[in-house]
This record gives sequence, C-alpha cells and structure tokens, in this order.
Amino acid sequence: MTKQKKYGVWFVWAAIWPASLVYLYLWLSPVIEGNRVEIAAFIILASIVALFPLQIGDHPVFFTQGIAFAVFLYYGLFIEIIVSQVAILALMAKMRLGRTNLHRLPINLFMFLLISVVSAGIYYALGGTHGPSAVNDRGDAVPIVSYALSQIVLNQFSIKFVAKVLYNKEIKWLDKGFAWELLTSSLVLPIGFVLYMVYSEFGMSGIFFVGIPFVFISGMLMLYHNSNQVNTYLRKTSIIGHELTGKLGVKEVLDIFVDRLSELLPVDYIYVYDVKKNKRMELIRFFDRSGEIDFPHIQLSMGQSISGNTWQEGKSVFYKKKSEWSHLENQYTPDRAETVLSVPVERNGEIVGVITIYSTKKRAFLQFQFMILNILGNYLGVAIDNARHYEKTKAESERCALTGLYNYRYFEDHIVNIFKMNQRQERGAPISLVLLDIDHFKRVNDTYGHESGNEVLASLSDRLQEVVGGHGTLARYGGEEFVILLPGYSQSEALKVAHSIRARIIQKPFISKLHIHESHEPVSISVTASIGVATYPDHCEEAFDLIRQADRAMYIGAKQRGRDRVASYKELIETVQ
Ligand code: GH3
Ligand code: MG
Ligand code: MG
Repeated sequence: MTKQKKYGVWFVWAAIWPASLVYLYLWLSPVIEGNRVEIAAFIILASIVALFPLQIGDHPVFFTQGIAFAVFLYYGLFIEIIVSQVAILALMAKMRLGRTNLHRLPINLFMFLLISVVSAGIYYALGGTHGPSAVNDRGDAVPIVSYALSQIVLNQFSIKFVAKVLYNKEIKWLDKGFAWELLTSSLVLPIGFVLYMVYSEFGMSGIFFVGIPFVFISGMLMLYHNSNQVNTYLRKTSIIGHELTGKLGVKEVLDIFVDRLSELLPVDYIYVYDVKKNKRMELIRFFDRSGEIDFPHIQLSMGQSISGNTWQEGKSVFYKKKSEWSHLENQYTPDRAETVLSVPVERNGEIVGVITIYSTKKRAFLQFQFMILNILGNYLGVAIDNARHYEKTKAESERCALTGLYNYRYFEDHIVNIFKMNQRQERGAPISLVLLDIDHFKRVNDTYGHESGNEVLASLSDRLQEVVGGHGTLARYGGEEFVILLPGYSQSEALKVAHSIRARIIQKPFISKLHIHESHEPVSISVTASIGVATYPDHCEEAFDLIRQADRAMYIGAKQRGRDRVASYKELIETVQ
C-alpha cells in the first residue's frame, strides 16, 4: 500500500469516525446508567474472545460477533458498537501491528462501525426491537436472521472491498475466507443468541455461564484451525520436497525451490547463498515480491551480515522484528525488512549454503513456518547433492578423461540430434564433418612410450580446440582419431577449417616430458595428420553416412596418397569417375 493511501485512510477515519460516534450517541441516547458493570463485563468478555483469532489468508476471523450480537439484542446499536470497537482494539493489540501496518486499525474500526450500523438498520427496518423482551414470538426470527446474514455478507464484502481498492489485490468472492466465516458464524451467532436469552433471564451470572464456555470454544477453534493449517503446510512441504529431489539439474532445483517457497510462505525477499571454496558465500538466487530490486551480486565472508552469521554459527535463526537483528544490518539487508528467518543448508555435516528470507511485516512468520523452512532447507541440500552428482556423472560419461573432449558416445547422439533439428527447418542448411587421424602414431608410441603418446594426444586436442572454438563440436572419436561437426558449413568452408587444422598441427612439434629415453630431458615430437571432409546433403543423406564418407575421404584421399594432407569426399568421387 502506498504512503498516500495510508495517510488517506487515517485522514478519512479522523474526519468521520469520532463525529459518527458522537452523532450516534446523541441520536440513539443509549441507557448506560445502571448497566455499567454489565456493559463492562460484556466488553471484557468480547475482548478476551478477540484474542483467539483464526488467521485465514491475510485476515483474522474472530468470534466477538456472537457477544456483540447478544449485546445488540439487549442494549441496542450504540452499546454493540462500543463492544465491537473495543474488541477490535484488543485484536489489533494482540496482532502487534507495528508501524508499517498500523493503518489497519482505522480501516477495521471503520469497517466494523459500518457493518454494525447497516445490519442494525436492516434489523430495525424489518421490525426488530432491542431490550429484555426483544424476542418473544416467531415473527422475530425474520429480523434476527437477516441481521446475522447481513453481518456475514457485509463482513466479507468489506474485507474484499478493502483488498481490492486499498491493496489492489485480485479477489475471489467465494473463497476459503468466506467458507470459514460461514462456518464460524453459524456456530457463534446461535451461541450469542443463547447468551442474550440467558442474560435476559439471569442477568450478570448469565454472562459468566455462557461467556466462559464461549471463550473455550474460541480457543479450541483457534487450535483446531492452527493444527489444520500446520497439516496443510506439511502436506505442501512434502510435495515440494518430492518435486525437488526428483529434479536432475542444479539450476532447475534452485529455480523450483525459490518459486515454491515464495508461494508457500508470506515472504517479501528470498536470498539463497552458495558456499564457495574460497571461504566466501555467493548469492545464487534472489526473489523480491515487489520486483523493485534487481539481482544483487553479493559475496559474503563468514560472519558477515545475517546470512554470513548463520554460516558461521551453523544454526537457524528467527528474528521477529528489526530491533532484534539491527546489529547485523548493512547494505546487504533489505531496507524495509522486519521478520527474518535464516537457515543453513547442510550436506554430509558441512554447511554448503544459507537460505535467508525476509518479510517487511513484524512477526510475519509463525514458529511452525520456521520449522517448515528448516525442512525445506534439508530437502534443498539433498536435492542439490543429487543433482550435482547426476550432472558430474553425466559429464564424465560424455567426455574422455585424457583430453577432456567429448567422446564418441556423446558425439553419436549429438550428430543425430543436429540432423533432426536440421530436418525440422524448412530449407535444411548444410552440415560438414572433418575427420582426422594422426599419421604413424604407433611409431610415436614405439619410439617415446605410451605416456608420451598420451601427452601428444592431450596437446593436440588443445590445438584443435583453439581452431574449432565455438564454431562446431569437437570430439575424440577413437584412439587417435578426432571429429569436428560443423553445422551450417558448406564443403568449401569446412575445407578451410581442415586446412587450418593441418597447418596448426605441423606449425611446431609437441613437447613431451614423460618419455622413456634415459636423459629425461623434454623431447619434441613432430606429428602430422590425415584429414577427410564430407558434407551433407552433397555426399550423404543421414548422420552416420556423413561420418563414413569423411572416413573414406580421409583414408583413400589422404592416407593412401601419402598422409599429411586434407581430402574431401568430393575429390574422391571426381577421381573415381
Ligand atoms: P596411420 O594411421 O598413419 O595408418 O598409422 P597409425 O600408426 O596411426 O595407425 P592406426 O591409426 O591404425 O593406429 C592407431 C595407434 O594409435 C594404435 C595405438 O598404438 C595408438 N593409440 C590409440 N589410442 C591411444 C592412446 O590413447 N594413447 C596412446 N599413447 N596411443 C594410442
Ligand atoms: Mg587410427
Ligand atoms: Mg593413425
């Protein structure tokens, strides 16, 4: 809500509320004299009941209407207004609104004043009266039931009106709040009616006999609702946990975590930190409900700020308002934050991350929500561990350990995918393949030893990688055979790449340190390669044919003609013809 709106609320309230009360007092001239103690007893009872609200979504549902209803039937509108308004003060005090939400007080006082006046108007208009004998024949049911219904409807209407007009929220008329309101009203209003009857008959002791069980019922409803709410949260948490641990990628796990957490808890900011090897912690995910702050690039050392402190202490913390954590406030903590939950993410007894969430409201989170975040933190640790393990195993299974290049297993899947993607496009682009086999590599092994051979293969891979860069996919296809897939490359463009590869290989010898010669001085090893090039769709129709044709070009066009040369499949066909 904007500042202007908040000031507006106070202004409208100050202009109308006190004057209305005075006006209503003068107009209705309630009889207070002689009933002071009873009225005070009702006010106290209503205020106690107001201390057991059910938090449904953003709104508390509370049961004082039952008592206010009895007061209305006996004493009429004005005393009912006093009882309701004091009960709201009690409720707001219990909710400890804090400065940022203080405007909810005038909104509620005003809303309930309006509800009291309108439903009383309906009641009197339908012939209802108040006093000790207000209810004595069947016809009185009409105004009484209308009063009760108008209370329910008006209450829901005003809650939704405020949500839409003042908070710009999307609203649904028949939601969970409405269901709870119906349920609690149908319990509470009849009890209020009984309270009226018993009070009319027995006076002060009636307040006592009905009032005490009423307080207990409110308390029990609150407990029931709370445990119900905890169950719902636990169910959702378990679903999120399954979802997280079922994901295979680290990025996906983190995205889902932040997304679900922002839906589950009333958070304004989420910070997820990853502990790095250099004794620092880096922000890897960030959420801001207002969308005002861009992703902040934050690195924290141990003990720095709230999250760094959680890392250092290894314990979760729950701060209910800013004054509790103001000693940790700095440029990394959001300005308007009040409530903070911060939990470490552990793996194998080691802290690997920290999750810190903020709300701009004081006491925005309940104890069980703190526990929920701890559970989710554990799920996140396990899920990231699984995902990292999966990604590592996958990467290893795709690459060759000696050169770090993709292996043939990866390459064969890759070339099939490239062909599929190419065929989906309307005018298929050319795809070229360069295949390279080192010449007389057995001799290198025989002369310098297998380890030297390996060194040459690794350095040669680096040279190839430098030439290919991001233009294509380089893979080690066999022992000393390499392939380069060049999507979008025509035959002549691919030949250029092949020639620069050849030039790069013969440019200078490879240096080996791990050779079998006695001197153990580094030796230079010169090698050459035979290179074949083929292009789709000129020379073949499908992926594996392309490899075969390039191999043929390499073997017949380059090896058989004396090695250390580049040959294309095109030349091959032309010479045969
Ligand atoms: P050419 O290709 O010119 O006909 O002769 P070549 O000696 O290179 O023969 P070929 O391609 O048939 O043999 C490949 C040799 O490469 C066999 C093997 O000794 C060697 N080789 C294959 N893989 C490795 C490897 O991982 N490390 C080492 N050191 N040598 C390997
Ligand atoms: Mg070979
Ligand atoms: Mg060879």
